[in-house]
Amino acid sequence: MMLCITQSVQDEIVFAISKPNCRLREGKMMEYQKKKNKLRPPRRRAMDLTLDDLNNQRHVTLTTEFDSDTLAKESSSIQHLDFSKNAINEWVWDWNLQNGAIKHNKKWLEIIDDKDHRLIHTIETYLNIIHPDDRNTVISAIERCIADEGPFHCQYRMKTRGNQFILVRDSGDVVERDSDGKPLRVVGAILNITEQIEQERTLRMLAFQDSLTGVFNRGYFYEQVQQRLEQSESNLYCAIISADVDNFKLINDRFGHQSGDNLLCFVGQQLLTLTQRAEDIVARFGADEFVVALFFDRDKQSEHLTSTIAMSETIVANIQDYGLNTHASPDFHLRLGLYHGKIEDSLEFRLHLADIALSHAKRLNAPNCVCYQEWMGERFAIRRELMRCLEQDLSEHFIAYIQPIVDQKQNIVGGEILLRWRNQAGELVPPIKFIDELETMRKLPMVTYWLFQRVISMINQYQWHHLSFSINISPSHFSNTTFMAQLMSLLAQYPEVKNLKMEITETVMFEDVAAIRASMDDLIDHKIQFSLDDFGTGFSSIDHLLQLPITELKIDKSFVGNIEHEQNRSVIELILAMAHNMKLSCVAEGIEQAEQLDYIRALGCEKFQGYYFSRPVPEDEFVALINNQLLS
Ligand code: C2E
Ligand code: CA
Ligand code: CA
Repeated sequence: MMLCITQSVQDEIVFAISKPNCRLREGKMMEYQKKKNKLRPPRRRAMDLTLDDLNNQRHVTLTTEFDSDTLAKESSSIQHLDFSKNAINEWVWDWNLQNGAIKHNKKWLEIIDDKDHRLIHTIETYLNIIHPDDRNTVISAIERCIADEGPFHCQYRMKTRGNQFILVRDSGDVVERDSDGKPLRVVGAILNITEQIEQERTLRMLAFQDSLTGVFNRGYFYEQVQQRLEQSESNLYCAIISADVDNFKLINDRFGHQSGDNLLCFVGQQLLTLTQRAEDIVARFGADEFVVALFFDRDKQSEHLTSTIAMSETIVANIQDYGLNTHASPDFHLRLGLYHGKIEDSLEFRLHLADIALSHAKRLNAPNCVCYQEWMGERFAIRRELMRCLEQDLSEHFIAYIQPIVDQKQNIVGGEILLRWRNQAGELVPPIKFIDELETMRKLPMVTYWLFQRVISMINQYQWHHLSFSINISPSHFSNTTFMAQLMSLLAQYPEVKNLKMEITETVMFEDVAAIRASMDDLIDHKIQFSLDDFGTGFSSIDHLLQLPITELKIDKSFVGNIEHEQNRSVIELILAMAHNMKLSCVAEGIEQAEQLDYIRALGCEKFQGYYFSRPVPEDEFVALINNQLLS
């Protein structure tokens, strides 16, 4: 491989030779003649040139400008430089500091086109073929050597035929001095290291790069970002984006690994479009896991974040349009989670929080990058802990609380089973904080099944066959075939248990109603009854709801709690009238005061639930409540 840098037109360096036998094209020669008369600086010895002189020359005119004696003398001694012709792959040079002539061995012909005098020239000529950006380095290396600071070694880009630059390593030293110690001759050798450097670069890249997508690998990402975080001044921010493709495994299965690989390469390229500064890095951490580090100025934080999120939306859309998302393909999307860290955050911590944001992007089916927020962290901690609990005996971590349901005479006729979770700190966590998480983790049916086992075991243990117990069920349970099969097999084992209810909400209407209806019918065959929870808060039409085999309505506590408002009283009256008309029984939830009970009881409601009678209680307290009732 060849490192090819072509110099721009403006940087074009003019070569011209003043000797009569030089082969310059006519036009160039005339141009040169003009320049020579007008612009040529007075001749000086190479040693007299200052750094500024050399460096400021954009168009250095190549001119050997030696008198014929010097030329003849120097030419005759060129041969000795070719001793190495077949032995080593170097350009050898010999610089006479007295007359300024630099001689080269014949290998030099590989570089410069002219065949006559190019083996002998001046330092100005030489600098002309060095890349402008590298000239300073070379000049100061030479100056130090001539100033007796020892041999020089430097690396620079040198222009060869076809205006291509190669990378060379040049080393030389003073080999001859006068009686005062003043340098007279410097000899050195130039080695083409383009390929060597390129190989080193390739090796380095292999060690740093992800071979499939070409973005960086995890090792390089950690090393570089860590370094940048340590070095960065306090006004530099680092945001981390964690990205992965939902259902990536299915893409491999469905379309083959080549398609999967192509998609990953595309994702890598797309993520590169988010980078704006040289410090930004995109890396692939695992199969379809990518991480991006973006650096930006503190005062531009919100501007930068807004543009990143806007760009992320385009990327997510591009991935979706990639061509694999057809009706026959699994649903796959790129998900992105971003954490814009605080200065003091460690890289690990940043990655961790970006991952949390990513998990929320997945949960929300976000069409763009989701930024981390504090509450996400709490949820993540809950999720992790739940995960651990679910791997163990559920009875050690979950508790079935029971809230009594009473009849018009305030006798307990049953209870609602309400789940509680005891976390690592020993606190009793209410369902509002973990039910959704269990649902997202698709573990709620497993816990519901455990609740059914618990209730059946209590009914049998305490002979509560005359009581009715209800368990809350989200719509997803009906399509979970494992749950349905397990539950039906459990119910079949206990045919004596006849008073179990499932509380469903109006959200079932958003699902496949026909399929849910079929599952409900199967459950009815196993003596399950259905109660419609939180009635009055949803938006479903009553007609639709009544397509389902429901036998009970639960009037939502929001109406009961605000009974002083006429509007709420009207709703309660309407629900009760309708329920009675349709031969459905009613439970009024959230009774906290005697007035509420009196009012709703007077309307003919059959059952009541609320703190007025009892809060949800653990099993032993519920046993005590039942026993007290029996005694009274
Ligand atoms: P929900 O089904 O409407 O359950 C009634 C909630 O109202 C319970 O809250 C109960 O403690 C509370 N409550 C009862 N009486 C009163 C009262 O007089 N005043 C007030 N202000 N509140 C009262 P909890 O136990 O915190 O449960 C909250 C929700 O969590 C439940 O609402 C239910 O939707 C859900 N949930 C509880 N356990 C489960 C479960 O095992 N599975 C599912 N899917 N959801 C559950
Ligand atoms: Ca309920
Ligand atoms: Ca309710």
